[in-house]
Amino acid sequence: EVPEEDLVRLQWYGLYHDKPRIGTFVLRIKLPGGRITPEQLKVVGELARRFNNYAELTSRQDIQLHYVRLEDVPSVFETLRGAGLFRPGPCGDTVRNITSCAVAGLDRDELFSIEGSLRELTDFFSDPSHRDYFDLPRKFKISLSACPYHCNHPELHDLAFVGALREGRAGFAVWVGGGLSSTPRIARPLGIFIPPDRVLEVALAVLDLWREDPENRKSFVKARIKYLVDRLGAEGFRERLLERLSFQPEPLEREPEQIRRDFHEGVRPQKEEGLYYIGFPVPVGRLSGDQLLRIADFALEENLEIRISQRQNLILGNVPEERLEDTVDFMKKVGLSLNLSRTRALSTACTSDPFCNYSVGSAKEILTEIIDYLEGELGDLGDVIIGCDGCPHACAHHWLSDIGLQATHIRHPDGSIETGLNVILGGGYGRLAGVGRIVLKRATVEDTKVYLKNLLSAYRKSGKETIQEFVRELSDEDLLRVMRGGEVVTVTEEKGVRVRMMGPLTRLTGGLSELWVEAGTVRELIDKLEVLYPGVKNRLLKEDGEIKSAINVFVNEEDVKYLKGLDTELKEGDEVQFILA
Ligand code: SF4
Repeated sequence: EVPEEDLVRLQWYGLYHDKPRIGTFVLRIKLPGGRITPEQLKVVGELARRFNNYAELTSRQDIQLHYVRLEDVPSVFETLRGAGLFRPGPCGDTVRNITSCAVAGLDRDELFSIEGSLRELTDFFSDPSHRDYFDLPRKFKISLSACPYHCNHPELHDLAFVGALREGRAGFAVWVGGGLSSTPRIARPLGIFIPPDRVLEVALAVLDLWREDPENRKSFVKARIKYLVDRLGAEGFRERLLERLSFQPEPLEREPEQIRRDFHEGVRPQKEEGLYYIGFPVPVGRLSGDQLLRIADFALEENLEIRISQRQNLILGNVPEERLEDTVDFMKKVGLSLNLSRTRALSTACTSDPFCNYSVGSAKEILTEIIDYLEGELGDLGDVIIGCDGCPHACAHHWLSDIGLQATHIRHPDGSIETGLNVILGGGYGRLAGVGRIVLKRATVEDTKVYLKNLLSAYRKSGKETIQEFVRELSDEDLLRVMRGGEVVTVTEEKGVRVRMMGPLTRLTGGLSELWVEAGTVRELIDKLEVLYPGVKNRLLKEDGEIKSAINVFVNEEDVKYLKGLDTELKEGDEVQFILA
């Protein structure tokens, strides 16, 4: 018997309870920069095979296994240690896996080599003797890269070193305070340029400035560095940071910009003439132990590099030109084909059900179902990528994806619960970095498919270059209208009476379970709903104009039968519920 408080400590070694909190564990294996040797992949493949033949590539370039039992943990740790994969701090309040461009060192367009800086950071934060950095106020996510495409998503990290060239010299811009979850923030640039050999010093100064702030220990929920940056502002943060540095960083007038959106998928020439890397899509990041083992053996034989990307994909590097075709063929036989749409290749889904204890739905299944439907209806969706999460924590970046989906619960009057979706639009990465807005709440998965089909059809017709351009120009009301296929919807946001359609009745309001309408009586409210959603009146009222016996109407939780029926008066802020009897 191991007490729960000791089990919680296992987070520092990458173990969380699988759902429900009894029995088995998820094991997260840190892979700095998404790098893993063929020998190491073989070890991970064997472990995955031992635990239900299942593994996941994560959106932070880790590999996760599930179904690990407590009694297996010592031998698993020994195996990982033997393979050089036992790195403390994959979970818990630590410096998490340090991410980077997945093809750093390989890609032709990389601005300069980051090898020394990345190694220095990962060596320091993998060393458990640096205890202060394994007991932080909250988790801390660092990214470092010189990828001109910003494929590593610097904007969503607590601390990002963003490669830049200044008068021909290599160095990094420093961005701080990004993060998603329920209060998303885009990282704020500090306007400084630091040389590569100062990266560790700056990282430690940023961490110290944050972890020594007494405010952090007051509220766990508000302890992420983004709140400190909110309080100080970028300038205030920079001032305090400079006081801690042993050198004076140069000012940076212009922050590095993403050249274009590119996640290194497909066949690409490397820096070295005659060599290529190939980005293979791994739909929703799932692989079996058998697949991992076959890939590892092949990579060993062929002397290939293996990388994991933040789009949950797998990259093979150092492929000679004459081996390209065979490599692509081999991977196809393993189940990883290059012939997938960009949407399927680059969309991401978090771990969620059946493993994550926060989850209220299976993001991987939902994402697959929705892409199947949309591609079936509309064909190739072009450059649109979807991020689907099982809860507000946003591990798959629903806030920044072209289309963000977050699973949520729809509660029916009979007490049953259905998994629904919040739809988030307007978010973006890189040049288009921005936090999306929740345009639709608690829609059923079936309805969401149709709404997205309508949205994407309208986007296509608009001729806009990006979905962000299309979406950001429209109000929420306009977007709802578009998603409903063009019908007029005028929802007065949080003004008037709060109308709640319960369970199947949401179908009468185009999937909306909640809306605000201005009305003085229940009768007037139903008349207004009829204007907004033609047909709703017939579904609620009998021919003689009275409320159908199958429908219950409550005003502030009182049945209108015991008030004045349809003439029950309403005032600002009242709540009217429509429920099937
Ligand atoms: S987004 Fe939520 S449900 Fe998905 S893996 Fe993260 S914490 Fe779990």
